[in-house]
Amino acid sequence: MVETITLTEASSEVEALYQLAAAVLNEHTNANDLCAVCGCAFPCERAVLAEHNLSL
Ligand SMILES: [Zn+2]
Repeated sequence: MVETITLTEASSEVEALYQLAAAVLNEHTNANDLCAVCGCAFPCERAVLAEHNLSL
C-alpha cells in the first residue's frame, strides 16, 4: 500500500518535470542562433537541460 502511494507520487513528479521541460523548450527557441528568452547562444543552458530531461 505504501509502495503504491510512493510510486504514484514519483510518477506524477516525473510527469510535472516533463511538462516543465516541454514548456521550457517551447519558450527557449532558436532566434538567429540566440535563445529567444535568455539572449545567449542557442541552445542555452536551460534548453539543453530541458532536452536532457525529456530524453529520460
Ligand atoms: Zn534560454
